[in-house]
Amino acid sequence: MSETTAAFCPPFCPRKRCKQHTSKTGFRWVRYGTYATQGSTTRIQRYRCLHCRRTFSATAFTNTYYAKRPELLIPLGHRMLACSGFRQMAREMRCAASTLMRQAARIGRQGLLWMASMLPQGPIEGPLVVDGFESFSYSQYHPCYVNIAVGGESHHTYAFTFSPLRRKGRMTKHQRRRRARIEAKHGRPDPKAIERGTAALLRITCSSPQAIVIRSDDHQAYPRAFRTLKHLDITHEMTPSVQARTSGNPLFPVNLVDGLIRHNSANHKRETIAFSKHAQGLIERVAWLLVWRNCCKPFSENHGGGTPAMRAGLTEHQMTVEGLLEWRLFPKRTALPEEWQGYYDRREHAPGTHKARPHRLKNAY
Ligand SMILES: [Zn+2]
Repeated sequence: MSETTAAFCPPFCPRKRCKQHTSKTGFRWVRYGTYATQGSTTRIQRYRCLHCRRTFSATAFTNTYYAKRPELLIPLGHRMLACSGFRQMAREMRCAASTLMRQAARIGRQGLLWMASMLPQGPIEGPLVVDGFESFSYSQYHPCYVNIAVGGESHHTYAFTFSPLRRKGRMTKHQRRRRARIEAKHGRPDPKAIERGTAALLRITCSSPQAIVIRSDDHQAYPRAFRTLKHLDITHEMTPSVQARTSGNPLFPVNLVDGLIRHNSANHKRETIAFSKHAQGLIERVAWLLVWRNCCKPFSENHGGGTPAMRAGLTEHQMTVEGLLEWRLFPKRTALPEEWQGYYDRREHAPGTHKARPHRLKNAY
């Protein structure tokens, strides 16, 4: 937002109940005075919608709307991609970790809306590579899969979904007893979570009927998930998961995304204490990372080649963190898939874990 906000022309009414909120053209408004915030000399322009007669200011269109520390948003957006924990960032930025967590949730929601706005409207070209990134939130008794769909040629990540899993693998007697206690109290996670998560992932990615080649590893949930998708004519190419994870592996595009998530996110480092304390934190951070990877990071660090979103024909230019966070995207103006609406409202959680505070648009229309 520029310091002289009077030059700004509101493109639509920011109030979600107003008919002019979703209109593309013809929004009519008038200027309605200015105000100055405490400690600032710049005056902020107010406007009045000529349809609902309510007033609003230019800041309603920014991601720092109602933020007490708006200057933290952009540095936080960068730091979330640079493997820092919230307390580490808070020490540097001289604020409470909880302030950053709330702004990180905002950034994650903006990331989800960017991903939704870039979902292909028609058939997708080229093969799609599908895999699950394994991590956990809350405790190691609550592992999860982040199911990911990546373009085989473009490396653009079209979508992701979240599947809470049951803890498996080698456990001590004590650990087994503890898992049994947790499951007796909160119930077992859905054994078909990966199947359901993968089916939802592909419904989001390929919403219209088409023939498509999908590459995945030999996880048995994938063929079952594909059979439920009647609108797709799927050719399934399987690669054993034990095959070397080199650039020659057909699953390389998705292995690379897995590597980037682990490399850039403090919450997914092995043996970290910065793990996500609830599923929503994990989801929001993944959404932001994937948008940045799609829109800002070049295909190759050494040779350029455009961003994955440019290669998929979804954007024309390379974007920046500042550009992604400058203007607020509104959920009612961006069609969110059903699963993502739950992520946006902060309703997702694994059984027996902390629930995130739900996102209700209180002061933000
Ligand atoms: Zn209005």
